[in-house]
Amino acid sequence: MSAASDCVICRGEDGDHELDRVEVWREGGWRLTMARHGPTLGFAYLEPIRHIPYLADLDGDEAASLGAVLGRASATLRDASGAQLTYAYVFGGGVPHLHFHLAPNIPEGVLNTSLIEGRVEERKLPSGATEIISLDHPDLPPEELAAVIDRVRERLSE
Ligand SMILES: [Zn+2]
Repeated sequence: MSAASDCVICRGEDGDHELDRVEVWREGGWRLTMARHGPTLGFAYLEPIRHIPYLADLDGDEAASLGAVLGRASATLRDASGAQLTYAYVFGGGVPHLHFHLAPNIPEGVLNTSLIEGRVEERKLPSGATEIISLDHPDLPPEELAAVIDRVRERLSE
């Protein structure tokens, strides 16, 4: 687990200055900051005030309040920026302090909607949903996928 003392996000306002962003809201153990530069209107970061490294480490009061905080922040960013919806991305490889990238999206905007690197193809399902298919990476063997599905189901039912 990474140390809070080395963490730019735990440095609060000083870290915000380095990251060129400004805090706009605190609620339920979370803070919302907004980028002061970049190509996306209303780009923001929702992060726990307490040092929680990754999404898989989320627990306690922050876990209990996340839904309400995430929903309110996303709706406010959407409405204030005139977007149709707000995308949420969580990675963790760059800064090991959990943060949701909240990005209001407009159709002609710059946001990448692909979860898969490389060439992809969109296929419309009967429901109207869009499935994204990788053209560079073949599907994994169904048995391998099924084994992980089973493990997750078992562990979550314990
Ligand atoms: Zn931190």
